[in-house]
Amino acid sequence: MTPTAGPHTGPHSGAHTGPHAGPHSGTHAGPYTGPYAGTSRLNAVRRAAELEVLGDDARIDLLVIGGGVTGAGVALDAASRGLRTVLVEARDLAFGTSRWSSKLVHGGLRYLASGRIKVARESAVERGVLMTRTAPHLIRALPQLVPLLPDLLRPGQAALIRTGFHAGDALRLTAGTPGALLPRVRRIDADRTRRLVPGVRTDGLRGALVAHDGQLVDDARLVVALARTAAQYGASVLTRVRAERVTGTSARLVDTLTGRELAVRAGAVVNATGVWAGEVDTSIRLRPSRGTHLLVDAKALGNPTAALTVPVPGSTSRFVFALPQQLGRVAIGLTDEDAPGPIPDEPQPTEAERSFLLDTVNAALSTALTRADVLGAYAGLRPLIDTGDGSTADISREHAVLESPSGVITVVGGKLTTYRRMAEDAVDTAVRLRGLPARACWTARLPLVGAPGHRDSRPLPAGVPEGGAAGRVPASLLARHGGAAHEVLAAGELAAGELAPIAEGLDVTRAEIAYAVSHEGALDVADVLDRRTRIGLVAEDAERARKAVEEIVADAR
Ligand SMILES: Cc1cc2nc3c(=O)[nH]c(=O)nc-3n(C[C@H](O)[C@H](O)[C@H](O)COP(=O)(O)OP(=O)(O)OC[C@H]3O[C@@H](n4cnc5c(N)ncnc54)[C@H](O)[C@@H]3O)c2cc1C
Repeated sequence: MTPTAGPHTGPHSGAHTGPHAGPHSGTHAGPYTGPYAGTSRLNAVRRAAELEVLGDDARIDLLVIGGGVTGAGVALDAASRGLRTVLVEARDLAFGTSRWSSKLVHGGLRYLASGRIKVARESAVERGVLMTRTAPHLIRALPQLVPLLPDLLRPGQAALIRTGFHAGDALRLTAGTPGALLPRVRRIDADRTRRLVPGVRTDGLRGALVAHDGQLVDDARLVVALARTAAQYGASVLTRVRAERVTGTSARLVDTLTGRELAVRAGAVVNATGVWAGEVDTSIRLRPSRGTHLLVDAKALGNPTAALTVPVPGSTSRFVFALPQQLGRVAIGLTDEDAPGPIPDEPQPTEAERSFLLDTVNAALSTALTRADVLGAYAGLRPLIDTGDGSTADISREHAVLESPSGVITVVGGKLTTYRRMAEDAVDTAVRLRGLPARACWTARLPLVGAPGHRDSRPLPAGVPEGGAAGRVPASLLARHGGAAHEVLAAGELAAGELAPIAEGLDVTRAEIAYAVSHEGALDVADVLDRRTRIGLVAEDAERARKAVEEIVADAR
């Protein structure tokens, strides 16, 4: 395994003359030219047509394996640089770790604490790119509040946290992100603290320290926006297609819906399969670590508008967060547990993790949460590289681009926030090693579907009022779709009831469900419930919405 790129790995320069060097020749598979060409629409019709155009024994520039944030980012980077790109995802977009995150767009504060200044700065820069240019429609500034409760903080810990927050602020400034977008660190009084997080304990409360970071409305929606934008630039985005027998220049693609198999030859193959990377390329050895979140009703904490940050007893650097979410929930996370063994499709939280999270957050709440308050829970796996000597190299926050002896280029680690930089490094590596005919990377200036400045983004049609009452466009729809909301409304044809919630108490509209199938590549009910919307995070919500979703999905197909 040869590290090849990224700020974190050694240099690997010069012409590549090994068995994977090329020739990069032969007849290229032409791009898809059907009715959706040049559009960002993903759906079953386009998928079938794209597979047909690809055919057997196609030659392309770049094969990307994995449709999480990393793979979707690589596909966008490559397609927007003019490379004939195919992305295959075995299950659905954002099926893996990318939907189990804390949904924060981090400024890199925690890396500063461990002296990793370069990584911290990279994170702050990428946060700024996401919040100002590529996806501002999906991200809001989230106040993160540390309550000043003397029995919760060790001596000197408040001063330490304040210093860290100010360092984070300095990082924001050097990254060029304006204070108007992410307000400066400040101390607030007890009243203001209670207004932001009404559930906070009040005995002895001396106010709070507040810093701001970015928060995604949902992580899976970022992945879908990336994949759709890649498709608009000509990438074939193929879900339910598994890559097997992968080499540096070829793979067998299995359409898991039909069983059909296709061979593909590529100038380069990028393995972006996260914790599954070792299954695609056996020279990669990972030791995953599990991170768990619990979901409670936001009412249980008094409908907070800020994140509550609670120090873990006995540690100066670990915290549990209670993060307000869409759909009226609060997510409480996060753990960090060794998770050896086979990689499950959907990792499960343990009882011990549930107890740890509840016990820690309860120390800062006026009314303790119980198991009965927990409406749902989810866990995701971080990839750690196994160095083989019993230790792990923590690349879960830093990323690496590695070339294996087979020639497969693996991009692994990192985080949602830095997906763009990871993608750029991976494509730069493929271009350098294989002489691919690519233009320079420009994704830092490329707005995603729904972002202001994206070519299809529009204000709402004249006369369509915002606001949330029946017949008005709910703010939650705008938060999830930004400048593409007009398309959602058009897809639903604004028929009676299209803006009604899919089930009582769930602010996802029927129009959004239809749009998920017609424009966002959802192929079945699970794609809609579990990834295009996050209704499925609470099983009871999913059951309430299921019948209506089934009907809309059947109609929209
Ligand atoms: C608990 C937790 C919380 C986190 N919170 C944050 C956060 O708040 N902010 C942040 O910036 N980062 C966060 N991260 C990090 C971030 O979520 C991950 O770095 C990122 O999602 C990894 O994405 P990925 O695309 O590399 O992998 P994945 O999302 O796992 O994608 C890999 C994909 O490959 C597919 N695949 C596997 N094998 C094949 C095959 N043979 N053929 C085709 N497809 C295949 C899988 O189905 C999967 O969809 C968090 C991570 C964890 C675990």
